[in-house]
Amino acid sequence: MQTKILLPEDHIPKQWYNVIPDLSSPLAPVVHPVTMQPVSPDDLLPLFPMGLIEQEVSTQRWIDIPREVLDIYQLWRPSPMYRAHRLEKALGTASKIYYKYEGGSPAGSHKPNSAIPQAYYNKIFGTKRIATETGAGQWGSSISLACQMFGLECTVYMVKVSYNQKPYRKSMMQLWGANVIPSPSNQTNAGRAILAAHPDSNGSLGIAISEAVEDAVGREDTRYALGSVLNHVCLHQTIIGLEAKEQMALVGDYPDVVIGCHGGGSNFAGIGFPFVADKANGKNVRVLAVEPASCPTLTRGVYAFDYGDTAKMAPVAKMYTLGHDFMPPGIHAGGLRYHGASALVSQLVHEGVVEAKSVHQLACFEAAVLFARSEGIIPAPESSHAIRGAIDEALQADEEGQEKTILFNLSGHGHVDMQAYDDFFAGKLTDYDYPEEAIRESLAQLPKVG
Ligand SMILES: *Cc1c(COP(=O)(O)O)cnc(C)c1O
Repeated sequence: MQTKILLPEDHIPKQWYNVIPDLSSPLAPVVHPVTMQPVSPDDLLPLFPMGLIEQEVSTQRWIDIPREVLDIYQLWRPSPMYRAHRLEKALGTASKIYYKYEGGSPAGSHKPNSAIPQAYYNKIFGTKRIATETGAGQWGSSISLACQMFGLECTVYMVKVSYNQKPYRKSMMQLWGANVIPSPSNQTNAGRAILAAHPDSNGSLGIAISEAVEDAVGREDTRYALGSVLNHVCLHQTIIGLEAKEQMALVGDYPDVVIGCHGGGSNFAGIGFPFVADKANGKNVRVLAVEPASCPTLTRGVYAFDYGDTAKMAPVAKMYTLGHDFMPPGIHAGGLRYHGASALVSQLVHEGVVEAKSVHQLACFEAAVLFARSEGIIPAPESSHAIRGAIDEALQADEEGQEKTILFNLSGHGHVDMQAYDDFFAGKLTDYDYPEEAIRESLAQLPKVG
């Protein structure tokens, strides 16, 4: 009974997969936040290096991974795939459950898969310094690591509530050489405006993005980096699904359903897009995104143009959104709290190629605890949404008398999130449906495009 399905180092994919040529209609243009006209590569140059802008708009299906990036990927890739024999037994399911584990990267999540190439393309472009934001700290720690490896300076605006409540990822960023600033801060106009209106603001991802964008645009030596949502981030993450396909083939299997948790869309795109390619070629496979009921972007948001950030400085994209001034409830333990979603994932959901569902946090923690007690690995609270999705698929198949092959992405470990588990066991967490009125109010503020 094989448990770990491993690939040798020389099987790290040499190209990323770009889903854009396999979309059934062209992607909506990204729009400038002031002029509301489609952005040109020149508009994006204050934010990103040319190598990443080219990837953002590329219609080439396969894009070569630079040697320097492969050398660093090799520190933890190929990542292992596991057959979850012990979880299957605990569930008593007739279905087969496989998971791809991205928690073995130095930062403990899938995020370095994009942080490393982002730092690389900045380095060769001549960038000296990166400004970025982070919520719970996974992206901040990943880009700090990447900047360290390529000799770039790094400033991270960290959502204040996490800065105070989750000190250890801040410590990781500092260990890897970054400067970490709690957001909202008094270092930017965007931060000062929020502090003037709400001196006790806990911050949000939207606010932190505004601060990082303002910082990057204001300095010639600095570029901005985003850990999710953008096309080039989804592109980099496809290394997960490309490896997964080869690993499943090694054991002569193929999934009926592929599952990822969904915050901004990057790990979901990573595991899912290579299977979307198979679907475009006629394969019968379902691809399912699982999001929290407290931030139900794909399932209750609207598919419309919206700003990427609260201060309306970031480009405007067509995506599922809860509104750029969406304020996530502080009671939710996990990440996955961005108001928007990847334009690529959004379009695939809109076209019905990809499915989405939402789940409540208590059910996710129950799934995570069952997983940790059977498989051993302690999942990141975000990843628990994918586990819940996989378990529910298995249970439903049992009810229908079917045997399914289920693959999910375990996007990271939860070693730095133990407070959330303590809170769960202490009964401090509650389920929360984001209120309909709040969504309606936020959606009234959407920009008018075209
Ligand atoms: C950041 C993060 C997520 C959510 O981000 P996506 O871009 O939706 O993947 C999920 N899992 C882990 C472990 C993360 O660090």
